[in-house]
Amino acid sequence: MILEVRELVVRYGQATALDGVSLEVGEGEMVALVGPNGAGKTTLLNTISGLIRPASGSIRTAGRVVQVPEGRQLFGDMTVEDNLRLGAWRVRDRNLSHIYELFPPLSEMRRRRAYTLSGGEQQMVAVGRALMGGPQLLAVDELSLGLAPLVVQNLAEHVVRLNRESGMAVLLVEQNARLALDICARAYVLEAGRLAMAGQSAELRRSPAVQAAYLGGAVGEGEAVRAPATSPRTAGGGEGGGTAP
Ligand code: ATP
Repeated sequence: MILEVRELVVRYGQATALDGVSLEVGEGEMVALVGPNGAGKTTLLNTISGLIRPASGSIRTAGRVVQVPEGRQLFGDMTVEDNLRLGAWRVRDRNLSHIYELFPPLSEMRRRRAYTLSGGEQQMVAVGRALMGGPQLLAVDELSLGLAPLVVQNLAEHVVRLNRESGMAVLLVEQNARLALDICARAYVLEAGRLAMAGQSAELRRSPAVQAAYLGGAVGEGEAVRAPATSPRTAGGGEGGGTAP
């Protein structure tokens, strides 16, 4: 297990944002966390990353967790290259060539200031910066936020390929449940600070409650999602059926 969250409670003043959330990510696994606005998804990632101190519960990690923050949060006045380098502050390897191999367009843009890039290009930089930290678990907060469907598809394929080729585990926080259930073998549904459902993505896709709330009504078997060109390491064969709360 690369991440084990047990009975996590997080409060902002009097308000309870997370109320006894438990979640696991296995080594090399891709896991989705979906839920509506304000459910507590970002709070959960920020707590896992150590940015927020929980009121109670525990978080155990067995490797480096690096977050791709919601809204990318690049330094707009700095170059692409300098933004990428910032991701490597904790590690020795500052070589950017593997990032440019993964995202060739960034190589040509390396001297450009980040604010001049499109949203999709900026998301590549945000993912690249996180990868520079050498994560065993990449925690992505809203990969698809504000991006065109084709751009999202492309980025998702990159993340899937990284998972498959390097074995890096992924925790994908997404409002786009269709995408998340497509590329992750297992998923958790968070609603109002509590886990509402958990299990294999294929099963969740068949759930009428998930279809109604997250997939825009009923969808036929097989047409819910478009399979990516590459499939995740654990797709269809992931361990464990999740823990229904
Ligand atoms: P979204 O999908 O809109 O990003 P989310 O699922 O990530 O939502 P959070 O951002 O974690 O949800 O917010 C969970 C709850 O905690 C919300 O009710 C939000 O208003 C509240 N909240 C978040 N950050 C703070 C804060 N710094 N102070 C007080 N309340 C907060």
